[in-house]
Amino acid sequence: MFRLNYLPSQGNIIFKFTMNKSRNFLLLMLVVLIISCNKTPPENSNDNLILATLYNYYSAEYEALTFQAYNIAEERLINIKKERPAETNFAIVLDIDETILNNSPYQAKLIHENIFYDSCWNDWCNAALATTIPGAQNFLNLADSLGFHIFYISNRKEKFVKEGTVKNMKENGLPQVTDEHFLLRTTERSKTSRRSQIEKDYEIVMLLGDNLGDFFEDAASPSDRSAQVTDLQKEFGNRFIVLPNAMYGNWVDALKINGNPEIVDSLMVEMIGGEW
Ligand SMILES: [Mg+2]
Repeated sequence: MFRLNYLPSQGNIIFKFTMNKSRNFLLLMLVVLIISCNKTPPENSNDNLILATLYNYYSAEYEALTFQAYNIAEERLINIKKERPAETNFAIVLDIDETILNNSPYQAKLIHENIFYDSCWNDWCNAALATTIPGAQNFLNLADSLGFHIFYISNRKEKFVKEGTVKNMKENGLPQVTDEHFLLRTTERSKTSRRSQIEKDYEIVMLLGDNLGDFFEDAASPSDRSAQVTDLQKEFGNRFIVLPNAMYGNWVDALKINGNPEIVDSLMVEMIGGEW
């Protein structure tokens, strides 16, 4: 079985060889040719990441937004503790990427070297070089000192990058970085079942993330996702704390623009809203 990885929106192609040897050989040659022709994306295809990546790394406004999110989160935690001081069962749940760890240097590599998103993601994670998002470290240390149980739910794949991720988190001085507090991805992408697992033993009082899927099972289309946020608007800045990330996320998948530049044009036309 051969598995070729393309951009997420292009899916995976699985070849099963069930024919005789000579036909197998011809097919193998075809697969090798396809692989060699698709080692790199089309020229400048990562250019759509440029402004968002520069913003996440260089803009003071990004830093201000993450401090803002974590300041609100700290205030909420202190209030929760004041309201129910005897409770020992409180949990907080955080995503890792673009919530605690800043991966904009990885995005910069994608742009600079014009490579596919997943071509060296594991190498980046295992290099353990990511710095923390401004405000994250102080918040996590406060939560730890107040007695909250901290759970890290991430779609980093446990099989490939657990060791590097743990190392990276520990070297950044983050608390409760132990096996029982780490729920990386083993099978499904959805985080709902991992949240349910925590809820069996703890009361989750706060969730922090940069993606709607870090808070609830998010819908597939942009309009449905928007409706979900409108319905839950009172939760933001309260039980849900959102960090900014314009570089990637389910919002991009919902727009279906990866590999479909013509969709960007139609989205722009829709935004312009007619002649003016
Ligand atoms: Mg994230």
